[in-house]
Amino acid sequence: MASSQSSVVSTQASNYEFLGPPGALLLCTGVPITTYALYFGCSEESGGCPPKFVPNEIFAALSDPEWWKALWDTQTTLPFIAWITFCVTAWAVLPGDRVTGTILRTGERKVYKINAFSTFVLTLGLAFFVILCYGSAPLTYLHRNFVTLLSASLVVSVFQALACYAISFRPGTLLALGGSTSNPIYNFYIGRELNPSIGSFDLKSFNQLRPGFILWILLDLSMVCEQAVRRGGFSQVTDSLWFILIFQGLYVADILYHEHEIFTKIDITTDGFGFMHSVGYLSWLPFTHSLQARYLVFKPIVLGPVWTTTIVVFNLIGYYIFRVANAEKNDFRNGKIDKKSSYITTELGSKLLTSGWWGRCRHPNYFGDLLMALAWSLPTCSPIPYFYFFYLVALLTHRQRRDDEACEKKYGKEWKKYMELVPYRIVPSVY
Ligand code: NDP
Repeated sequence: MASSQSSVVSTQASNYEFLGPPGALLLCTGVPITTYALYFGCSEESGGCPPKFVPNEIFAALSDPEWWKALWDTQTTLPFIAWITFCVTAWAVLPGDRVTGTILRTGERKVYKINAFSTFVLTLGLAFFVILCYGSAPLTYLHRNFVTLLSASLVVSVFQALACYAISFRPGTLLALGGSTSNPIYNFYIGRELNPSIGSFDLKSFNQLRPGFILWILLDLSMVCEQAVRRGGFSQVTDSLWFILIFQGLYVADILYHEHEIFTKIDITTDGFGFMHSVGYLSWLPFTHSLQARYLVFKPIVLGPVWTTTIVVFNLIGYYIFRVANAEKNDFRNGKIDKKSSYITTELGSKLLTSGWWGRCRHPNYFGDLLMALAWSLPTCSPIPYFYFFYLVALLTHRQRRDDEACEKKYGKEWKKYMELVPYRIVPSVY
């Protein structure tokens, strides 16, 4: 495997993102607080979604040491660590192809083992085996211990980010351009080292796909099991909850199946590995993205034919656009160019597709993602489970601007020409 630590490359970044150090500090504190707020703002334990909170009661709870103690349980921290260990072992033991990443600034390339999809299949197989042998009760463990598992994930992910920050000071480390500024808080947030690795085990790509994404679906499955226990069997589980499990499960399966596509994403090629990715993927993703399923456990909703049709149509159209747009770009980048395609050839030699979905807007894959996010929120009757949709709108509009700027720097006038030919950013003919 090509080593990324073979030479010292440290660059001072001049352009801050995320509003610079104050923004990074806000995100380092705001992300954990928001994750808890989404739990307490929408749960049975706190009395609904949203709960009927009286300010005095909130202050009374926050000043009660017992309330704080209930957030932590060492007995759920150990299963969380066991889960990470399982994912690492699956990475090591299960067979997988080797994929070469993009060229690093050192001129080397990293080699990645890809078997995230088989890890997902193995996990689901084990979960279904447990359900077949012991019924739905054992998997409700994740539902019952949701908040303490969330605390465990935060502690583990912050510890991981701190450890990666500390080891990034060893000599010969390849630093991320954006995470090697003069501000330590900003660097800690973005991630200082580009590719922290233990031998051939790459921490960033591992964290990005395996423990968080798969745990998200396990949490959804746990919500289905909880409802089955409460309502008297899987046949009594509401259609709305089944839809959430199936749609989100398919989305995750798709991402893990296309693991080889992540190695050209800015997360892998440009960002370092710090708080943003460690906490984002290990804690924020599974514990906030499973909000709709958690809501539907205590607010069971049976969809009529109109809502079923609406939700299925939104999800299928969203998935179709997401998949076709990503496939068009990947085939195009891999040299499989359709005779009918139109494109711009840049001075750097690479081409920009201007037909198909990439001729309708500059980020059609984000549009598909947003339609699916809306479909997953529609079965709920409260504004809080819509959080995922609004969060994704904010995330993807910011990401689109970030990518536009990066492409403009990279391709200059040819990118401007592409923007003239394809003026819409994310939603064809609208935005
Ligand atoms: P993209 O997959 O859209 O990749 C952007 C890159 O594609 C650009 O930097 C450029 O790179 C290349 N590109 C842009 N326009 C063209 C064109 N016309 N022709 C050919 N190449 C082009 O972005 P992301 O990595 O952000 O997203 C990947 C997927 O992940 C998306 O489906 C997105 O929806 C999803 N996602 C989901 C999130 C979630 O939380 N649900 C969060 C973030 C992403 P270059 O020219 O260098 O090849």
